[in-house]
Amino acid sequence: MTTKSAAAAVKLKNIRKAYIKQLPAQLQGIRASYAEFVLGEQGNAPLEDLHRRIHSLKGASASFRMSMLSAVATAGEHLAKEALQSATPPDRSWHQKMQEHFARMEYEISTIDPMQGMELQVQELAIAAEGTPGRERKVVYLCDDDRYQRLTLETQISCFGFEILSFGEPEQLATAVRAAPPDVIVMDMIFPDRPLGGSDIMQTIQSGRENPIPTVFISTQGSIDARLSAVRAGSSAYFVKPLNVTELCFTLSQLTTSLKPEPYRIMIIDDDPQLAEYHALILEESGMMTLTVNDPLQVMSPLIEFKPDLILMDMYMPGYNGMELAKAIRQIGSYFCVPIVYLSSETDTDKQFAALQTGGDEFLTKPIKPERLVSSVVVRAERMKIIRSLMVRDSMTGLYNHTATKEHLDTAIAHAQRKQEELCFAMIDLDKFKSVNDTYGHPLGDRVLITLARLISQRVRKQDIVGRFGGEEFAVILPDCSIANAIQLLNELRESFAAIRFQAKDETFSCTFSCGVAQLSVYGDSAAINAGADEALYAAKYAGRNMVLVSGEL
Ligand code: GH3
Ligand code: MG
Ligand code: MG
Repeated sequence: MTTKSAAAAVKLKNIRKAYIKQLPAQLQGIRASYAEFVLGEQGNAPLEDLHRRIHSLKGASASFRMSMLSAVATAGEHLAKEALQSATPPDRSWHQKMQEHFARMEYEISTIDPMQGMELQVQELAIAAEGTPGRERKVVYLCDDDRYQRLTLETQISCFGFEILSFGEPEQLATAVRAAPPDVIVMDMIFPDRPLGGSDIMQTIQSGRENPIPTVFISTQGSIDARLSAVRAGSSAYFVKPLNVTELCFTLSQLTTSLKPEPYRIMIIDDDPQLAEYHALILEESGMMTLTVNDPLQVMSPLIEFKPDLILMDMYMPGYNGMELAKAIRQIGSYFCVPIVYLSSETDTDKQFAALQTGGDEFLTKPIKPERLVSSVVVRAERMKIIRSLMVRDSMTGLYNHTATKEHLDTAIAHAQRKQEELCFAMIDLDKFKSVNDTYGHPLGDRVLITLARLISQRVRKQDIVGRFGGEEFAVILPDCSIANAIQLLNELRESFAAIRFQAKDETFSCTFSCGVAQLSVYGDSAAINAGADEALYAAKYAGRNMVLVSGEL
């Protein structure tokens, strides 16, 4: 079971527990309606009430997969309906049967097995989760004895797209961690009668684990004592209350984002397929992605689609030599700086020198020791990755910049059209952002922009593209996404963002955004869908802001 579904199972178990607990009271309500009906002072109203109550027992117990109870309730509901539909008052035998049903309900409720149906429900939950657009939510466990603090943090942290479960007592947390470890823990330090209770329990929790769970401590105590004891318990960060929740959430997302960088993408051009495969294997074993091309004439389209960080090239191939090919590749605008490493059995240093002069970065001779190949490739591929990210990323938010976003939109549209899939494009613009800057200052305004950028990035699916389109304007490309799903996602984002409280000097404030969204099936090309989303965005502004509008439905 994944941590995510385990967290869902824990939640489900709690819901079921609460449901079972209230069943006796529910039955009491059913009996009370029946007693009213027997008294006969209010006509059919108590009978209708009885029917409704049994009906809801039937529905809920069936949803919780408590089959016996729901079977009895179904029979009871039939009987109540019979009486409702009959012109004459029910007879003795009806009353007798009804009372028998009550007795059976009571029996079923008193003997209910909390685990019965649980597994089935967990499975159903997992299947349903698969059906929804795959946004993987990281799981946070929060432990704080202060109920108000818990509630505030639950709301704010979930705004950032985390799945959060909270506990009032350290022991509850420990039990939950044993059952299903979360991605990150937020731990209070001070508990009643236990000034360092938080770090004590965390030490116990972590000590038995192979991989410690990232943990953030929160405390009213900023003393070095408390901090040291947090460090000893393996803390990743320490926040002093009152909390700056936005900062806390940033830290949580840093701690839960996989640190594994994107693999280097290496294109191998060699007319010898086995050799190419062997080099590919070496590089892949060190975690790189490779694409081999055996025919230099076929290099163009894989080059553009694969976007290599480095090209590893054989020197001599039938009809071509590596130097010519390198020159040709360098003449394509976006590849003028892609590193090219020759791999050849050429040992003549003059020829090697000539090859480097025509645009190669290094000359490696076959056979090459795998580790040498790997290290040469890594150094140069890394440089390319940095250059590429400087070219396409916005430095403040880390999102794609305007140009890169537009390029992605073109590619995504071409792909969608080939696959005959829907695609949605959304434009997001902060509301009255000038006044945020004017009131709280530009640096805090930047903070708001970064928060929104992170929030969007965290909530969208892997295949979605998020870009910073302009100053306080963002764009989201949602490939293979229906307009209904897009609206749902964007509205969730809108509500989450509006619920985030930003901390100014001595007050907090919130911000909203407006959004326009357009779908490919209506607009057909990049320029049109862009204009459509823009138009919808302006309509949303005009209609009062803080809303998502669909282009074409204005
Ligand atoms: P509206 O709801 O109509 O969009 O109102 P608005 O105030 O958000 O729109 P307007 O276009 O008048 O102002 C945009 C503001 O965004 C003005 C500019 O100073 C601010 N802004 C743009 N880029 C940045 C940035 O990088 N950092 C900060 N802090 N502010 C920025
Ligand atoms: Mg604005
Ligand atoms: Mg604007």
